[in-house]
Amino acid sequence: MRVVDLIRRKRDSGELTREEIEQLISAYTKGDVPDYQMSAWLMAVVLRGMSRQETAALTEAMLHSGQVLDFSGLVGRKVDKHSTGGVGDKTSLVIAPIVAAGGLKVPMISGRGLGHSGGTLDKLESIPGFNVNLCLLDFERVLATCGCALIGQTAEIAPADKKIYALRDVTGTVESPALICASIMSKKLAEGIDALVLDVKTGSGAFMKNIEDAANLAELLVETGKRMGKQVVALLTDMSQPLGHTAGNAMEVVESIEVLSGAGPADLRELCLELAAWMFLLGERVKTPDDGKKLSSDLIASGQAREKFREIVGLQGGDVGVVDDPRRLKRARQTLDVASPSEGFIAATQCEQLGIACVVLGGGREKKDDTIDPAVGLEFHKRIGDAVERSEPLCTLHYNSETRLEEARRLVETAYQIEPEKPKSIPPLIHRVIGA
Ligand code: URA
Repeated sequence: MRVVDLIRRKRDSGELTREEIEQLISAYTKGDVPDYQMSAWLMAVVLRGMSRQETAALTEAMLHSGQVLDFSGLVGRKVDKHSTGGVGDKTSLVIAPIVAAGGLKVPMISGRGLGHSGGTLDKLESIPGFNVNLCLLDFERVLATCGCALIGQTAEIAPADKKIYALRDVTGTVESPALICASIMSKKLAEGIDALVLDVKTGSGAFMKNIEDAANLAELLVETGKRMGKQVVALLTDMSQPLGHTAGNAMEVVESIEVLSGAGPADLRELCLELAAWMFLLGERVKTPDDGKKLSSDLIASGQAREKFREIVGLQGGDVGVVDDPRRLKRARQTLDVASPSEGFIAATQCEQLGIACVVLGGGREKKDDTIDPAVGLEFHKRIGDAVERSEPLCTLHYNSETRLEEARRLVETAYQIEPEKPKSIPPLIHRVIGA
């Protein structure tokens, strides 16, 4: 195999065989293909797309780059949830403990921030001591002890995705249905789960901005999962504005603990209840999504979900005091309000721009080896449909360095579209459910 030939074929809209895809993924995982060739091939995939057969071959090659876990020895159905990525999307931190508190097993292998979107692992690492790099034995031990464990890909689980994900993050090669499908499903199918709930985002802060593209991605994900014998549903959810009131790693942990404590932003709480409900349904714990929602709210109201989060944090080496007092988390030294330039109503947000502002402040990566500042982020004061006065704060930047503050401020200021009239419709939180 000459990698340059595979790059040129894809560049010219050709199709690769299953064997070629397997060889490419295996050689890249071993370090025999350099990042620059893989980046060129990934860009060709973004621009030219992949057939269903190529996507299936890529997913399986990435899945089999590592071990496929088998938790059949553990009692209880194993379910998970995965999001295609957005701004302020911290639902995993809330849902995993709810569902584990409800008696199902949640072996969750998550990702880091990708492009403008945040990642569960980066958020969890803002909890002092929290170890997302458990070895497989410890992963299983934590899962068996408390019903849930949250880790990143190890050298054993979908290592190809670990490498390719980091490369895509910094080479503008995220927005491809085939690459997103292979990335998500290779991790998730390796987890040894029975069922999977997918949160496929659409809107200005999603990788699939257009609803029909997002629906196609959802169908591709569901079809891939079902072909591999899993029960899968996808919820098509709104990302035309950030989820909740914050974006930024530690700030999002605070918000997640608020929801687990029965408070927190209404949109975040609602989406968490809905996603958890579907996990309970696929996990055969309830008969209808409404029963699942009721069970989820009860687990929050009784304090069991929050207690489960405390247990997970403790078992993964984190400071459990954070769950009782989130003020122990790192906070940025400075804040700056971004004021509205005019009076009116919020008609829309350029949500991706808000995510980029968070990255620019240091909350995400622009190069593979960038380190993240867990304390920085954005606090949103206005949502689509809200009235705003001239000079009223739209958003507060939490920052530690002034180096790129002006860039972040400008991104945020221009991300809000303000109109004299109230918008006629507000995007629904959940557009539709696919694969139910
Ligand atoms: N989440 C993933 O795990 N991979 C992607 O490519 C996008 C979102």
